[in-house]
Amino acid sequence: MIGPVSFVHDQRPVRVVFGAGRIGALADECDHLELTRVLLIATRYSTAAQTLLGDRVVATVTDPRAHVPVDQVHETLDLVGRSGADGVVAVGGGSSVGLAKAVALGTGVPILAVPTTYSGSEMTRVWGRTEGGRKQTGRDLRVAPRTVIYDPDLVAGLPTVTAAASAINAVAHAAEALYAPDRTALSDLAAAEAIRVVTATLARALDPTALLRGAYLAGVVLDQTTMGLHHKLCHVLGGAFDLPHASTHSVVLPHVLAYNLGDPAVAERFAAAGAHDLPAVVRRLGSGHGVPTSLRELGLSASSLDEVMNTVLAVPPVNPRPVRADAVRGVLWGAFSGVHV
Ligand code: NAD
Repeated sequence: MIGPVSFVHDQRPVRVVFGAGRIGALADECDHLELTRVLLIATRYSTAAQTLLGDRVVATVTDPRAHVPVDQVHETLDLVGRSGADGVVAVGGGSSVGLAKAVALGTGVPILAVPTTYSGSEMTRVWGRTEGGRKQTGRDLRVAPRTVIYDPDLVAGLPTVTAAASAINAVAHAAEALYAPDRTALSDLAAAEAIRVVTATLARALDPTALLRGAYLAGVVLDQTTMGLHHKLCHVLGGAFDLPHASTHSVVLPHVLAYNLGDPAVAERFAAAGAHDLPAVVRRLGSGHGVPTSLRELGLSASSLDEVMNTVLAVPPVNPRPVRADAVRGVLWGAFSGVHV
């Protein structure tokens, strides 16, 4: 039996507006959420968003930092308090959306998200913030964006390496959703389609519409299911060593998948989804687009591997195969060196 035989599918409401040029509906979508005074968190598209939103913008943050550092969260919460913002519009990658979520967690104000990468954060109720080299995450419905505008025109300008790494980040969500303990009939469908569309698109010219559609589906399953060893490793690496999020996913994913595909049930499920050779496919697509292939290249030192392993083992994730020291060491060493066994 490949599909889940028993599950709970908890579908939260979210309005998704998808299509080229849809950023033009930004003000209307704010009206829909009854937002009259917004904090705008945006980097590259800050001026364009400000023009579309006009007087509605009462405060701006143009430099959201990676992994949501807690000092920036405090500064932004002060800004919200002083400006009386009644909502947040985040236009950017996972760093912009992440800061918006920290604001929503602290204040309860709604978020309208316009993602410009394939990170998937805009679809989830998962928040994160980093303090003292530790990334803390949690789930809270208040941080889930109420409306998401996906406009492929905004991701079209991503440099190829950034786009490919971010798209593989999306594949990582879908792949781990396929073996999540809380997978559902719908999450399986969405995950398989996300893997199919993203890997097929990465093998050709990088069509932003197709990649964004896959990233949206991958974001949906990231929200609905519990991630395993892969996400745990990336979370620890990102929080403690400030490694680039998407490239870290791209490097680590083939190694974790190779390990987890050693479980016959997982192998059967991936084969049914047309993804029996996903580790090799991810490796080939990543390196083909110039994405780094080892943690060493990303700047990690070998002396840090034990710390990463111990942090993972301290609170081991749910995973289809055992998360024991020998397995984690093997996966980490492979990811560090870029050598596949
Ligand atoms: P990011 O937002 O830092 O963006 C990566 C880089 O791309 C940045 O330099 C950014 O300026 C640039 N960029 C973004 N959009 C661009 C565009 N359209 N054109 C050109 N350059 C552009 O990184 P990310 O990979 O999008 O997100 C990573 C963060 O999101 C991490 O902190 C991660 O933990 C978080 N995240 C959270 C969730 C969740 O569910 N909570 C899910 C995925 C990722």
